[in-house]
Amino acid sequence: MPLALNQVAADVCPLTLLPRHIRADARPLLRVSVFASGRLWLVSLFLLGSIRLWAAVPAPTPLPQPRIIKLYGQDYVQLNRWAEEREFKRVEPAPSDEIRLTNRRAALTFKVDSRRAEINGVVVWLSYAVAVRNGSAFIAGVDLKNVLYPVLYPAKNFHKTPLRTVVLDPGHGGKDPGNEEGKGPEKLHTLLLAKEIRSLLEKTPLKVVLVRTTDKFVDLDQRPDIAKKNRADLYLSLHYNAAPHGANVRGVEIYCLPPAGAPSASGNSGDARRDYLGNRNNVRNMLLAFLVQKSIVRSLTVEDRGVRHARYAVLKNATMPAILIEGGFMSDPAEAQRIENPIHRRKLAQAIVDGILAYKRLVER
Ligand SMILES: [Zn+2]
Repeated sequence: MPLALNQVAADVCPLTLLPRHIRADARPLLRVSVFASGRLWLVSLFLLGSIRLWAAVPAPTPLPQPRIIKLYGQDYVQLNRWAEEREFKRVEPAPSDEIRLTNRRAALTFKVDSRRAEINGVVVWLSYAVAVRNGSAFIAGVDLKNVLYPVLYPAKNFHKTPLRTVVLDPGHGGKDPGNEEGKGPEKLHTLLLAKEIRSLLEKTPLKVVLVRTTDKFVDLDQRPDIAKKNRADLYLSLHYNAAPHGANVRGVEIYCLPPAGAPSASGNSGDARRDYLGNRNNVRNMLLAFLVQKSIVRSLTVEDRGVRHARYAVLKNATMPAILIEGGFMSDPAEAQRIENPIHRRKLAQAIVDGILAYKRLVER
């Protein structure tokens, strides 16, 4: 009989849920100590992985309680206690403002007072900065749940059925040129990239649909609707970036929707407090964004600007896992040349396809 979550929260020993010998064998199952009832997401994450072990568990060996404190209105979890429970070890030496952790599965890097982190060398941006209080580092629980766990502990059979259809959305079009730097507007380069990705995806079992195949204007609200009508399993919006002249910015970044309440990297992007349709897929969005970013930064010589979160219209309203790729800065002369180069475009397209296929393999296993 399934246990009620609140019943588990009230009944289990709050110190730790599994003894050390079980913990050593349980990886990659999720093991989270519960500090206080009411934090049901912690409990439910634990239940997902370890409920089948429950009956065999003898009396638990107490570990120190993970400390949870309130900072910036958020629950912050003490990082070294969390790391200990996940069998991460601190890597030394490290710069004084960095925390480096490693276990058999992953290497993590955090920067004190910064939202920048790395998972296996790929940059990810947390919603809230890692903070130090009384000599201990703390990380926001919402970032554990929405940034780290989706990548470190992806669920099996995530989509229930195999992925079939990918919708590619070449940004801008028609009366909306997008960025205009270098040779040709952004709307041209996004369409060329989409067609390149399509030609590669057509060699795989996946079906691919483009939101537009010509230079026509498509309203932002319509774009995720087109994906929905085509029963897309994944939705990728393609863009190129621009920064003010002299800003010296280049590189690739991928966006997914921030969880409700968390800040957005883009200013004019709706109500931060509410859940959007796209928030149903927070975990899948993050996993897809991470795998595509990883594929790009490992196969191309481009700067890794990381996985970021923004409430872009097309991400808010997507009903399937959705990401927005900013494939480079048209404002940087050297990067603009690469964006216009068909060989570079082909490599970028291949890396995006490889990221999609990595996601497909991982969620269908
Ligand atoms: Zn754009």
